[in-house]
Amino acid sequence: MNCLNGRAPIRIFRRGNLDLFKLIDTHAHVSDLDNPVEALERAKAAGVGAILAVGADMETCKATLELASTFPGYIYPALGIHPTEIVVQEIPETVRFIEENIEKCTAIGEIGLDYWSREARKNKEIRDLQRDLYIKQLRIASEMDKPVSIHARGSWRDALDIVKTHGPGRGVFHWYSGPLDILKEILDSGYYISATIAAEYSKEHRAALTYAPLERILIETDSPVIYRGSPSEPADLVRTLKALSELKGLPLEDVAQATTRNAQKLFKIRI
Ligand SMILES: [Zn+2]
Repeated sequence: MNCLNGRAPIRIFRRGNLDLFKLIDTHAHVSDLDNPVEALERAKAAGVGAILAVGADMETCKATLELASTFPGYIYPALGIHPTEIVVQEIPETVRFIEENIEKCTAIGEIGLDYWSREARKNKEIRDLQRDLYIKQLRIASEMDKPVSIHARGSWRDALDIVKTHGPGRGVFHWYSGPLDILKEILDSGYYISATIAAEYSKEHRAALTYAPLERILIETDSPVIYRGSPSEPADLVRTLKALSELKGLPLEDVAQATTRNAQKLFKIRI
């Protein structure tokens, strides 16, 4: 669909008007992209005005900080250990790295829980390890008053209960596709959720995005995640925007402005 409410979305792609429609990709693994420099050029051309780049382990946290210093004012770094990327021996060193560099961080992430895999569902030790590390990182975020980017796949209830107890009180449940009763609590507790490209097809994700008010939704790519067989990059953020606009029955411009405003408010990003 190329036209929404009679307005052609073409304006967001046209050079010269980009300033009107700056988008913020609020969750991308930029350091994992094949050629980040080229991908960032394409993102800028597509109207992406800033990217919150998340780390997932020691290597990607370091790479994310380097990218942020190479592209100041465009790449905003978040550091964290992802629940499915935990290497037990590396935890102390990585946590120390996060603490030492926290002043340079826009947020803490990607952190959270993941009970999706069979392994995690069956093995309590894995879940306990994830929870301990999630709590540890939430406490760092709270002490330093940094927002958090939360991964909560298959662990929606625990992820919410724990962040309510240990978290900084502001953050985003990225790519939310859990139950709507928990989503209601997430929103009541002041948190945001984010839309990904899966808004084009995922029943659960679409239900969550339909339920949540636009003032509490951010947009992202989670690139280079593969959607329908193809790896993504931040330039694909316009796909998330289009899918969300269609779900909300609102013009692209309105959804672009609202989601950018939301991201600026949560992450204190100025573009
Ligand atoms: Zn991610």
